[in-house]
Amino acid sequence: MTPSARLRAIPDPAGDAWAVFERAVALKAEGRDVTMLSIGDHDTTTPHPILDAMIASARGGHTGYAAMSGTPGLRAAIAERASLRTGAPLTPEAVLVLPGGQFALFAALMAVTDPGDAVVLLDPYYATYPLTVRSAGAVPRIAPTRPDAGFLPDLDTLDAAMSGARALILNSPNNPTGAVYPRAVMERIAGMAIRHDCTIISDEVYDGQVWEGTHLSPRTLPGMAERCIVIGSLSKSHVMTGARLGWLVAPEGTALALRDLAISTTYGVPGFIQDAAEFALRDGDAIEAEAAARYRRRRDLAVEVLAGSPVRVSPPQGGMYLMLDIRPTGLSGIDFAMRLLEETGVATMPGEGFGKAAAGHLRVALTVADERLADALRRLVTFAGTCAD
Ligand code: PLP
Repeated sequence: MTPSARLRAIPDPAGDAWAVFERAVALKAEGRDVTMLSIGDHDTTTPHPILDAMIASARGGHTGYAAMSGTPGLRAAIAERASLRTGAPLTPEAVLVLPGGQFALFAALMAVTDPGDAVVLLDPYYATYPLTVRSAGAVPRIAPTRPDAGFLPDLDTLDAAMSGARALILNSPNNPTGAVYPRAVMERIAGMAIRHDCTIISDEVYDGQVWEGTHLSPRTLPGMAERCIVIGSLSKSHVMTGARLGWLVAPEGTALALRDLAISTTYGVPGFIQDAAEFALRDGDAIEAEAAARYRRRRDLAVEVLAGSPVRVSPPQGGMYLMLDIRPTGLSGIDFAMRLLEETGVATMPGEGFGKAAAGHLRVALTVADERLADALRRLVTFAGTCAD
């Protein structure tokens, strides 16, 4: 069978970076003890009270097709949470429940782009963004940021890139860099979006994991609710990656129109998952706070272990990751990560997998137990020392 041109257009040329991950998986399958600091998945299961709610819902009969845009209860819970956190009012009708933030990104791009439209990505970007843009038939347009500017958007570069573009994807707190965009930066970007008539797709899946600064949703800025689509998810906040529960917030007409995309693709999210999500959102903040505290603690631990080493780290302001600058070793991120894996059994993601601006960096996911993380980072430091000799 010949794959369609559409399918052939999706893969990313930065595939080399993923070779490290694939090698790590293969080594693990061979029985080697590999410490996986590669993927942003938790080292604990979904909290039992959420699983209990899921099971009770399923046993109670919510196992048939569920409401296509999301159950009224869950849409209301999401709207209330967002209104409370951002101070900007939000109706349940503006919320569309989808299977994961990733699908919500795709849906947002399908909502606002036509084939061939440019979508601006700030480099480094979450690794799926270029693929998602191409899957929707649009074309990624890259606006680089610089490590020495904390990977914050260079506003002139971004302004030029947004000219003629249909959408911009923002992600603060950022994966992979850990940057949290300050209000002044968000305000400037909002101004540019209005000037260039460009939609902002704001990926806020790490909105509850902020260690420095304050999370600001661009949707809350004047004139932005009409030109913003916000992406949310319970994957990171409530340890629910496998449940595939996400959503988007859009102008009500857009959310309503996207219902047809849900009908023609996913046909909704299982009712028992939605009920568990509603329980998670209405059960107070304890579960979310505990998950966030784990990453905060590991971030501090990692910074302590790496202090004074040849590996430079700027403490991330939010999220579940660290960006390490290994340029002093003279190796590329890919070579460093591959050799680190083979020689020490520590698997990381080369920065090159997140765009050219992250070359010479590694992304470390803080997703293993504290002691194991500290041990892996000590091995990384020792290895970096041998490269720098
Ligand atoms: N956006 C960012 C920045 C992410 O890091 C992830 C997952 O790692 C997602 C979106 C997708 O999350 P999910 O589809 O699990 O909700």
